[in-house]
Amino acid sequence: RIVYVNGEWLPEAEAKVSVFDRGFLMGDAVYEVTTVMQGKLIDFEGHCRRLARSTAELGMANPHSDEEWLQLHRDIAAKNNLTDGGIYLQVTRGNPGDRDFAFAREGLAPTVVMFTQSKPGQAENPAAWAGWKVISVPEMRWHRRDIKTVQLLWPSLSKMAAKDAGVDDAWFVEDGFVTEGTSNNVYIVKNGKIITRNLSTDLLHGITRASVLRLAADLQMEVEERPFTIEEAQSADEAFSTSAGAFVTPVIEVDGKPVGTGKAGPIATRLREVYIEESIKAGV
Ligand code: PMP
Repeated sequence: RIVYVNGEWLPEAEAKVSVFDRGFLMGDAVYEVTTVMQGKLIDFEGHCRRLARSTAELGMANPHSDEEWLQLHRDIAAKNNLTDGGIYLQVTRGNPGDRDFAFAREGLAPTVVMFTQSKPGQAENPAAWAGWKVISVPEMRWHRRDIKTVQLLWPSLSKMAAKDAGVDDAWFVEDGFVTEGTSNNVYIVKNGKIITRNLSTDLLHGITRASVLRLAADLQMEVEERPFTIEEAQSADEAFSTSAGAFVTPVIEVDGKPVGTGKAGPIATRLREVYIEESIKAGV
């Protein structure tokens, strides 16, 4: 792969970041992942908006304008012949040249890294159409989950707990209510109504979530934004999750109990179809 590091295009083996970079030492960094489908960037504007918000919330400089980011995304896709997969970007606060909890509020140049991940035919992925089984785990992340930081230790450990349990993902539970999945927003469907947690600092404001809720409204589906419990999910008619990487993915089992029929439900499947179709149309 050809990767991008601070203005340079390099073979991945030659791409390097300082050991003193705060992204490495402190997890002082934010990221975005934009999906590429059939050569198009999906929901790009949303990812750009959220990146700007994440950097602003941390008092970090956003090193590029939206136009520059767009060009970088197009360039990296072209250099890597990427037509289906994802583009990862990370912005760290930079390299102060030493380890220190305190940082200079100004004058530190952010570190920018981008690379591609090819995933051919992801829209066809049979496992995603069939749906995921999930387990619940306690929510242990910090309380600014609305900022897309690279502090992904608990989500990683939870994904491993899911794998160890022979399932596909884990849902975080805090004060009795589900916040989100390891790397996705989550939904249940009861009596035709889609229920998903309202936005706050408790969860990431998913870009796919925003697009899917817009599509649901266009399709005259009823949506209620409120927290729900694991028990409600287990007695729901359907469940599903959304993320840039997995689009809309049905969830068919929660903590060993089948959701609804235990098969991908009609609303989740319809939203998956419509999201893939519409997001390619709207892609840039
Ligand atoms: N929640 C978390 C914790 C995530 O990591 C992700 C994936 N970035 C999402 C939700 C879904 O967000 P998006 O639709 O923007 O990919």
